[in-house]
Amino acid sequence: MAIAFVGLGVSKGIVIGPASPLRYGQPEVPHYILPSHTIDDEVARFQTALTTARQQLQAIKARIPAQAPSEIAQFIETHLLMLEDEALSNTPATLIREQQCNAEWALQQQEEALLRVFDDMADAYLKTRRDDVVHAVKRIQQILLSGGLGHELATQESHHSRVVLASDLSPAELVLLHHQGVAAIVTERGGPLSHLAILARSLDLPAVVGIHDIEYRVQENETLVVDGDRGVVLCELEESALAYYRQRRRQEIDTQAVYVHTRQQACVTLDGIRIKLLANIEQPQDTGQLEGLNHNGIGLYRTEFLFMNRESLPDEEEQYQAYLQVVEAMQGKPVTIRSLDLGADKAMAGDTHTDASASNALGLRAIRLCLKENDLFKPQLRAILRASAHGPVKLLIPMLSTMNEVQQVLGMIRSIKAELHGEGHDFDGQMPVGAMIEVPAAAVCADCFANALDFLSIGTNDLIQYTLAADRIDDSVNHLYDPLHPAVLRLIANTITAGQQLATPVSLCGEMAADSRYTRLLLGMGLCEFSMPANRLLEIKHVINNSELEKLQPLTRKLLAAQHQEEAIRLFEAINTCD
Ligand code: PEP
Ligand code: MG
Repeated sequence: MAIAFVGLGVSKGIVIGPASPLRYGQPEVPHYILPSHTIDDEVARFQTALTTARQQLQAIKARIPAQAPSEIAQFIETHLLMLEDEALSNTPATLIREQQCNAEWALQQQEEALLRVFDDMADAYLKTRRDDVVHAVKRIQQILLSGGLGHELATQESHHSRVVLASDLSPAELVLLHHQGVAAIVTERGGPLSHLAILARSLDLPAVVGIHDIEYRVQENETLVVDGDRGVVLCELEESALAYYRQRRRQEIDTQAVYVHTRQQACVTLDGIRIKLLANIEQPQDTGQLEGLNHNGIGLYRTEFLFMNRESLPDEEEQYQAYLQVVEAMQGKPVTIRSLDLGADKAMAGDTHTDASASNALGLRAIRLCLKENDLFKPQLRAILRASAHGPVKLLIPMLSTMNEVQQVLGMIRSIKAELHGEGHDFDGQMPVGAMIEVPAAAVCADCFANALDFLSIGTNDLIQYTLAADRIDDSVNHLYDPLHPAVLRLIANTITAGQQLATPVSLCGEMAADSRYTRLLLGMGLCEFSMPANRLLEIKHVINNSELEKLQPLTRKLLAAQHQEEAIRLFEAINTCD
């Protein structure tokens, strides 16, 4: 009889393939005291392992496909920086000398000390960094224990066309597996916004997370079906069930071919409503992925990536050059540049401007931090305004919750314009300024923001976490993070309606815009601009081009008014299946 393991589908697609369980578990770390005359050799052994770990990560970085989103390299870069950090590169060597203990033991002690600090702070951003420490230490530990290269993933063993099952995978391991042609991944750890999930989606690799001990519950080479759409892994299937999944897989391949055909098509519903499709980018080089796609420009340029994983802050000139590069690459299409959204799960260079509050999702992050730290915000506003002289640029402000913040931002922009004018710099005097609607307070008062600003962009990633009080990067509350919760849908609908009533354009740039399950629902609510990672554009265009607004609107209205969950689910299905 078939066995089904139910988890969370974080990257879509169906795969049928043999299982490759990676049962590394926690490495057994030996503890022993060294004779004094071998201490120098032990320190050298530790340093060699550190160098090997760095070389492995450099080699993995070099294997990242050129067209892959920049966030992939960012994750590897974070681990490289950790290996450079005193805490990992020096302290274990000191411990070896002071305690005359072996390198593995010294490293283990240092890892425990670091994790204790993270656990005590227990905030959202540090939770993701905690995983980075674990991954970085694990790599060195495995090299030390194997006396060479580390576990088999670091060797040439291939997982081509196989389903890899593991308790956890680091970004580096995922890149390596992708390079080997892995077909799908299933893990115990990770949530929809974990590094692993983001990377799997960027690489178009079907992935299911959240299945306890999965690597021990399946035999090597057993045939598995991974359904990344539904978050299920099936084994011991009968031939008839396998045939069904083969058929679904074939359909999926055919659909992919259809998406490719939509490349040059306009994005327009069956009843003739034009919808704007925009891209989310993190770095200027991400614009390369947009070549040949018929899109409407950049709907979200997350500038904080320019500030992360480095020692010092980028100055105005460096920022101006980065923004200019994007504006020039877009050749006249609009570029929506979001001002710094640092804090919470995004750390910044040097970190001299933030205190503990910045790493708290409810603390001094994004626009709150920028309004407090003029030396952080002003150079960015100047750079963005200067870039606006070279093509259509829009400024998007994250995490706004009060109109007072809006007035402060607009006041600063006015005075910077006067300053730039006095210095003889060109800029667009009419540069549109918009609000991210990602705090429930802003969504409830969307009319005020729509009145005072030129456009709105709904950030559902944060809007969902704040509405449902469910930390977006905390695995243990994943089950509460629900885009279809009536409160979330009503806040989105309220924002779209406010925009319509005041003729203020509204786009949506959270992950919901990139997930085809929600496309028709959002269309039915009246959304006319969708912004998403480049690799989702064609699929979403395909759904839009096969949807009829007139049919979606009444169903959506009923769904928004539904009093019972069963009725809402039935209407959601009707929305997605009506012709
Ligand atoms: C969002 O919150 O939906 C969003 C797009 O911004 P970020 O994911 O960068 O917080
Ligand atoms: Mg956000």
